[in-house]
Amino acid sequence: MNMFKSSQNKNYYILFYHAAVLLIALGLLVGCTKPVVYHGKEVGGGMNFLSIDDEVSLGRQVAEEIEATMPMLQDYDIHDYINDIGYTLELTAKNAGFPQFNYQFQVVNDDVINAFALPGGYIYIHRGLLHQIENESEIAGVLAHEMGHVIGHHGAEIWSKMILLSGIIIAATESIPDKHKKWKTVAQIGGGFALVFTQLKYSRDAEREADFIGVHLLREAGYNPEGMVTLFQKFDKMNKSSPSAFQTFFSSHPTPAERIKNTEKEINSINDKSMLVTTTKNFSEMKSELEKLPPPPKKKK
Ligand SMILES: [Zn+2]
Repeated sequence: MNMFKSSQNKNYYILFYHAAVLLIALGLLVGCTKPVVYHGKEVGGGMNFLSIDDEVSLGRQVAEEIEATMPMLQDYDIHDYINDIGYTLELTAKNAGFPQFNYQFQVVNDDVINAFALPGGYIYIHRGLLHQIENESEIAGVLAHEMGHVIGHHGAEIWSKMILLSGIIIAATESIPDKHKKWKTVAQIGGGFALVFTQLKYSRDAEREADFIGVHLLREAGYNPEGMVTLFQKFDKMNKSSPSAFQTFFSSHPTPAERIKNTEKEINSINDKSMLVTTTKNFSEMKSELEKLPPPPKKKK
């Protein structure tokens, strides 16, 4: 069949031409964030056409949406405690060759057992996860893993793919004569970004990279990286007894078996593990403060 026989087909040709131009234009921008070699591995080198500034603005925009719609824990002591650990990890990351981002850490006041990161350094740990944590190196492990997603530009990669997809679909929906239907389609693609980031499912490669970066950041910050392993082991055990409690966590993270194996392999490559911190008095104080809090607000229906 001759593709350009009718005028409608000609329109399709023009649309596909524009989509192709868009793809090429975006393709030229791919690689604007160069991979960095960290402990013998290249990290942060996936497809990403957002600049560092774009990542930060995007993260800020989504963070505002998240903080307006999800309950944030307003407890200064717990906030300070998490931020102190986060700040230590941030300084470590900056010294390790990842100076791009400043980080912000917040606790979401609900029972969900999960944590997530937005592009640009906005990191959230749910209160439900804090309740499961038994020592400081486990909290540091969660934060370091999420920082690994930021450093690896994993959110920006997903965003890049979404822009690419919506670019194509915006072009393709030009052929939908019903204007309302057309913009509904575009809005569906563009909307709900906050939800996307809170329940993000990264690729297995991205998870591996975040664990890899996390283990080494922990060790360099003076934390015992075994905290990551003990947390995965705990989740594995609890998931078997109450899978519904871990639904959110495992929808956005692969099962722990492979992560335990990879993380232990990385930990074994670390020669000097003496003097590494597992827990502190501040951790115990934070935990008792946490137990004293009123229950999280009920979810709005
Ligand atoms: Zn992850």
